[in-house]
Amino acid sequence: MKDDNSQKLFNEARKVIPGGVNSPVRACRSVGMDPVFITRGQGARLWDEDGQSYIDYVGSWGPLILGHAHPAVIAALETAISQGTSFGAPTGTEVKLAELLVECVPSLEMVRLVNSGTEATMTAVRLARGVTGRSYIIKFDGCYHGHADSLLVAAGSGVATLGIPGSPGVPEVLARLTISLPYNNLKPVKEAFQSFEGQIAAIIVEPVAGNMGVVLPQEEFLPGCAELARENGALFILDEVITGFRLGLNGAQGRFGLDPDLTCLGKIIGGGLPVGALGGKKDVMSHLAPEGSVYQAGTLAGNPLAVAAGLATIETLKADPSIYDRIEKLSQTLAEGLLKEAKKAGLAVTGHQIGSMSCLFFNPGPVTDYASAANSNLDMFACFYKAFREAGIYLAPSQFETTFVSAAHTESDIEKTLAAAPAVFKNLT
Ligand SMILES: *Cc1c(COP(=O)(O)O)cnc(C)c1O
Repeated sequence: MKDDNSQKLFNEARKVIPGGVNSPVRACRSVGMDPVFITRGQGARLWDEDGQSYIDYVGSWGPLILGHAHPAVIAALETAISQGTSFGAPTGTEVKLAELLVECVPSLEMVRLVNSGTEATMTAVRLARGVTGRSYIIKFDGCYHGHADSLLVAAGSGVATLGIPGSPGVPEVLARLTISLPYNNLKPVKEAFQSFEGQIAAIIVEPVAGNMGVVLPQEEFLPGCAELARENGALFILDEVITGFRLGLNGAQGRFGLDPDLTCLGKIIGGGLPVGALGGKKDVMSHLAPEGSVYQAGTLAGNPLAVAAGLATIETLKADPSIYDRIEKLSQTLAEGLLKEAKKAGLAVTGHQIGSMSCLFFNPGPVTDYASAANSNLDMFACFYKAFREAGIYLAPSQFETTFVSAAHTESDIEKTLAAAPAVFKNLT
């Protein structure tokens, strides 16, 4: 029987891990399936417990821009691990990573390394509140900024997938301080600054939304947010946990010419190990302890293994920036090809793509915000996901996620994927 070992493990897992998974979307519930358990990854391929191989477009949800087990990352890890796994003391390599981040990401003057994207955004919000002495923050519906209490409001992705409005356990007094507004619409932002005059600490935004499917920012939206924040004495926080080093070495801020006060990073900068970072202007960052009074700490922060994997990843990208052009072309071929095949089959779909990020909405569009993304045909997405997985193509199991192409993908991988598409789409009609 197919999927036998994964099924057995999943049954075991459910006894000792809530839902059998350590992060909700992995459970594949929204597509009505059970997850496959993975044993190994190499390049653009994954293998499951039953020996089935997949072309992987999840890339561990974004970090693996170089693909699985990239030789430079593995070599760096082997060198680092032979020296020990954690010291809880400063190291030269964490300084090197911080310098590299400051060099690459235009708005960064200082950075603090943390252990996850969630920690980065949580700290960014605390810092913004600490620096401004204000309590409210603005976020956008469908943008996911990790699972810290203040940010788990209208949070897209896993939350959207599970249909949980926010989450029980987030105190209402805290959630009330988070103003969630529709993406790509400046008018409500302006109005919020009027209604809550002098009380808004920051706007936090994904420069390209990657947790409600891929939703692109309209031209005026991000500069408009930056300007409104500045005019009103609030900080402008870019959550580049996905887009940092994904949309180029300079991230989305380089691509769109933005100059945020604070930037949150994660995913790629850890090369597949748990890392996040919070960076920004010196006058803001210097409020962090021990230089300033806003507290933040981490037993394993700046962990030498995570830092080694991150350094190797970023140095590899920096040594050959043509990687970005190559993966962008592959991503374009994939997104355009899927859109074309879906339309040929008579489906009402909308395709979005930028750099190596893409998404096919089962939705006639236009998709510009969470409300329009949520209007997608999720049953159709579920069938699409299932048929592709059975054809050995591994996509994120939710309409509200991003398809990632890595440097390890080849034209032949994209061709194989597109070759499977006509049969998949034909079955959906
Ligand atoms: C993944 C993600 C986070 C959270 O990062 P974790 O490492 O999962 O905590 C925050 N913001 C965005 C935009 C993300 O995609």
